Amino acid sequence: MKSKGLLVVISGPAGTGKGTVVTELQKSGNVCVSVSATTRQPRPGEVDGKQYHFLTREAFVQMIGENGFLEYAEYVGNFYGSPRRQAEEWMQQGKDVILEIEVQGCQQVKQNYPACVSIFILPPSEEVLEQRLRGRGTETEEVIQKRLARAKEEIPLSKGYDYVVVNDRLEDCVAEVTAILQRERDKAVSEG
Ligand code: 5GP
Repeated sequence: MKSKGLLVVISGPAGTGKGTVVTELQKSGNVCVSVSATTRQPRPGEVDGKQYHFLTREAFVQMIGENGFLEYAEYVGNFYGSPRRQAEEWMQQGKDVILEIEVQGCQQVKQNYPACVSIFILPPSEEVLEQRLRGRGTETEEVIQKRLARAKEEIPLSKGYDYVVVNDRLEDCVAEVTAILQRERDKAVSEG
């Protein structure tokens, strides 16, 4: 019997490069990536429905009331949440679903889906993290400082994850995450 798809949570501080890792996994065609909803403003180049569904606070709160999220959290002043319907549909179809979310969201997913696989992506050092955050060039100094402070709080929480992978060279990190997913798929099949 084919088992349901895996639910995979990928977290890591802003600037750790996890978005790029997820994009690479998506290119392999073996995973579906959930598009989150958020109340933050789009960055230049971001398109509604692609990187995020950009919602007003009112619309987001309404969706919470309708049980429309697998999980949601407030992060640096904005709400972020994983829409429930699409992710559950994919899993029922046997597809592996990736949620790229922060740590509070991961804790909720673990409570509701104990079989989920959680992966924390670490930057090689705090210096590299700061360089990457600034290199983006899209955030104000105030937001960069808040994200750096949040990153320092988040890194110790990597202990609660099933796997921790360092993103030093992108190809190595993607290869390592791909191997983890393969191992977990094999495990799910053998456990039926
Ligand atoms: P950003 O504003 O840089 O796109 O995302 C900020 C943080 O929110 C990142 O750590 C990202 O992983 C997290 N995030 C994005 N979507 C979701 C979501 O649906 N739920 C939760 N809990 N966090 C999310």
